[in-house]
Amino acid sequence: MLTYTALRAADRDSAAMHAAAPEPVERDQDRAARLVEGLPFAAFTLGPDGRVRVFNTAAAALFGVDRARAVGRAIIEVIPSVDLERMLQAALAGETRTRDIVLGAVARQRYFGVTAQPYESGAMAIASDRTALLAAERMRSEFIGNVSHELRTPLSAMKLMLETVLISEDDAEARALFLPQIQGEVERMIRLVEDLLDLARSESGTLQLRVERFDLGDMAASTVNTFAHRADGLGVELELDAPAAVPVDADRGALTQVLVNLVDNALRHTPAGGNVAVEVGREGADAVLRVRDTGAGIPYADLPRVFERFYVVDRSRSREHGGTGLGLAIAKHLVESHGGSLVAESVYGTGSTFTMRVPAPAGLSVSPDIKER
Ligand code: ADP
Repeated sequence: MLTYTALRAADRDSAAMHAAAPEPVERDQDRAARLVEGLPFAAFTLGPDGRVRVFNTAAAALFGVDRARAVGRAIIEVIPSVDLERMLQAALAGETRTRDIVLGAVARQRYFGVTAQPYESGAMAIASDRTALLAAERMRSEFIGNVSHELRTPLSAMKLMLETVLISEDDAEARALFLPQIQGEVERMIRLVEDLLDLARSESGTLQLRVERFDLGDMAASTVNTFAHRADGLGVELELDAPAAVPVDADRGALTQVLVNLVDNALRHTPAGGNVAVEVGREGADAVLRVRDTGAGIPYADLPRVFERFYVVDRSRSREHGGTGLGLAIAKHLVESHGGSLVAESVYGTGSTFTMRVPAPAGLSVSPDIKER
């Protein structure tokens, strides 16, 4: 038989049990919230009412959202995406969905990979920023498309010309017409493959720079000399302005390749009667090499893109000039691998200026002598 005290004790125990009963559930929820909170990637949970329960720090940073203001709101108020809203509705109804959602204004769109799934009686989503990854994938497939196109076009042309020469057997006229063209296409393809190899080397970081001290002005003088004859033939004045020695610690071959590319471009885009000037000097801590031309110039909208692989402003003109659209991409890589920069300025219809800067060796000032060349 239970005594009064025993009964009271039993009551107390049962009351304590009742009071304690919700506790483990609450602790579970807290623990789950803490877990989501501490995840090293963006995650948030919704309650069964579709309102945000937990919005972790990584999610707040990823979406640029104030966590405190996110909690308790409908997700569409926090992240303005109808697609995300639909995914989470589906997750609340028991379905798991994964897809990319797009946020932001057209020019600054960002892509977020989101997985939404049912979680307890609500839903949970995890997200990551895939913008850079998708851009890299797009660039890679564009690159493969470009390479294939650049190789297939001359190959098709050569095939046609060769067939014509073969069919017309002893037709001297056809041979005289097509064989030099085939040779031209082969040379273009060799240039393209060499450029691709250069680009691959410089992008993969396997480029070995052979650094030595030399005078940038001296390098510019010998490079400009190699173009003198061509400039004469084009009726373009080619000048060098390198009044003082500008020592640099750099790979002479690589910087020569950069200058060759810049002068070659300048001559290709400058009509007869124009001027191409190569200037060498020191500005602050930098050794500077500038190539100015009074040529066609580059439209303002194209200017930031000329350093992209395969970017060609005017495709029809470039083909006739034999350009691959890789030269400036390679040049920029070469300069940047020296810790320098290559910048383009242009006024369309008036001319272009390309400026290369590389760090000059510390403690060396410009020699005041005007060098004889
Ligand atoms: P390409 O082999 O076609 O010359 P580049 O990468 O060297 O390729 O140059 C990219 C594009 O930039 C060229 O197709 C050309 O349209 C433009 N460009 C480069 N240099 C000049 C210049 N000095 N004047 C005008 N346009 C230029």
